[in-house]
Amino acid sequence: MPELPEVETIRQQLVTSLPLKIEGVEFSRVAESIIKKSDRKIDLAGKKILQIRRVGKWLEMVLDSDERILSHLGMSGSWRLWQKVQNEKHAHVLIHGIHLEDGPVIWAYVDPRRFGKMYFMSGEKAEQFKSKLGIDVSSIEFTVDYVWQTLRKYPARAIKAFLLDQKYFAGVGNYIACEICAHARIRPTRRVKSLTLDEVKKIHAATGIVIAGQLPKGGLTFQGGYRDAFGEKGQGLANLVVFHQKVCGLCHRGKIKKIVLAQRGTFYCPNCQK
Ligand SMILES: [Zn+2]
Repeated sequence: MPELPEVETIRQQLVTSLPLKIEGVEFSRVAESIIKKSDRKIDLAGKKILQIRRVGKWLEMVLDSDERILSHLGMSGSWRLWQKVQNEKHAHVLIHGIHLEDGPVIWAYVDPRRFGKMYFMSGEKAEQFKSKLGIDVSSIEFTVDYVWQTLRKYPARAIKAFLLDQKYFAGVGNYIACEICAHARIRPTRRVKSLTLDEVKKIHAATGIVIAGQLPKGGLTFQGGYRDAFGEKGQGLANLVVFHQKVCGLCHRGKIKKIVLAQRGTFYCPNCQK
């Protein structure tokens, strides 16, 4: 599933074809499961996409009409940058556009499993929508104090399961949550109420380390088969320290244990995570 680094990689790649003047939009026959027909009433032709922002795992395309396209990639979605239409059977939304320098460009939303979501809405509605998305863990609002106050709300939750809650930790997914716990040297199963302020500081710092470590590598591809906007796979799992690893990448001694926590495969090092 695309997490913050994967979604941010796609965002940075799409930005290279901005501003994009939209000539028309095409939908596949089964696009309804991603974008509802009633949502397509905004006529995009002739308008320009000026900017793309990211909040957590959501992409927000900002139009010159102040309308927005909000896109969540679900399990297997991605936006591809095409020069011309390609034979891709899982392309469900095609935005045909013109870039001032590059000429015709197509932004294709490709999603084999169709768990993605897309909304076309006014700027005002988009702001309301985003206000419910929670704090993005790579934003400046994500502070030690924020993490401390947030964790106090649900003292009985296991830390790793809590980190997956998009209402509080927008952008974190399963592999990022496992890696944060590893870098913070905290077992994923620890109840939040048992964490000291010092450990919460470590979780905060570890979040920065994990995100910063993944971003320049262009995202991660495993199982779900993430592809970036150029159709390239991301890196493999080799650069991670616990997620799907055999030996811990931090202490190089601990044998990684896999457990199931809140229905998600969870990896940790019994040697360095307390
Ligand atoms: Zn270890």
